[in-house]
Amino acid sequence: MSLVLLLGHPVGHSLSPAMHNAAFRALGLPHTYEALDVTADALPAAVQRIRDGEVLGANVTVPHKEAVVKLADTWDGPTAEVGAANTLARTADGRRVLAANTDLVGFEYATREVDLRGKRVLVLGAGGAARAVLAVLFRRGAHVTLANRTVERARSLVRATAHPPELDLRLVDWADRTDLAAADVVVNATSLGLRGEDPLDGAPLRRGLVVIDLVPTAAPTALASRAREAGALVVDGLPMLLQQAVASFEVWTGRTPPVDVMRAALYASVS
Ligand code: NDP
Repeated sequence: MSLVLLLGHPVGHSLSPAMHNAAFRALGLPHTYEALDVTADALPAAVQRIRDGEVLGANVTVPHKEAVVKLADTWDGPTAEVGAANTLARTADGRRVLAANTDLVGFEYATREVDLRGKRVLVLGAGGAARAVLAVLFRRGAHVTLANRTVERARSLVRATAHPPELDLRLVDWADRTDLAAADVVVNATSLGLRGEDPLDGAPLRRGLVVIDLVPTAAPTALASRAREAGALVVDGLPMLLQQAVASFEVWTGRTPPVDVMRAALYASVS
């Protein structure tokens, strides 16, 4: 049996084990996916388990997506582009750890029906997920306003982000994120919502707004619920979670996973 880990802190809420274990079973693979609560101090040792061959691979989640990049030996294109990774695997030569970022394809898929060209997008958060979000938004021709609780982290993301000169990237104070007058789209890429918090602190939402909440929860988040009530178009965190999982599965196994099985396991675990 080979183990695949989800490395994060906390990880108790994760919907990923249900998807991956269903896919392993469906393909007859002798693998198990387990969530492992890992603090920042314990992260290097967890990555070493992959290098040593004790563990087949891992997903990486809050708050380790940026830290894990420096612990890997080699990087796929999206990881090198955005400086954050959500997937680890051993390289084909069996000696090194590859960091891959499947959040980009996940966000791309989740927003495939949202017209982003020329739109003004307010992004909340400047962590690992926000890095993937910004990369996709600029590819799709959107203007971005970024708000993060810790302003220095937002500044460093702005410095690290290459974007076409015709597209805006500006910062606003965290306190000003509730002014939505100029926004066509809001993306919640913070951890706020996992425990019932509203990242917009009750700011009024409106019909015509698009609200994309990355937080993947079994029950709708407070933000997604309010947005639906207001008649906004809502994209919740589940389509992205499914698609990034499909891509991560391919990295670990080299196999195309049964997407329908993964989708059924995901939605069964939230119903
Ligand atoms: P990180 O830990 O890298 O970043 C967390 C972000 O949330 C930071 O911007 C942080 O701000 C902010 N934050 C945390 N607590 C608070 C708070 N109390 N008040 C204000 N801001 C806060 O996490 P990730 O970027 O990896 O993930 C962010 C979210 O996106 C998570 O909920 C994760 O589950 C979700 N996600 C969903 C995916 C999906 O497939 N649906 C894929 C990837 C992520 P600060 O810098 O000030 O600490």
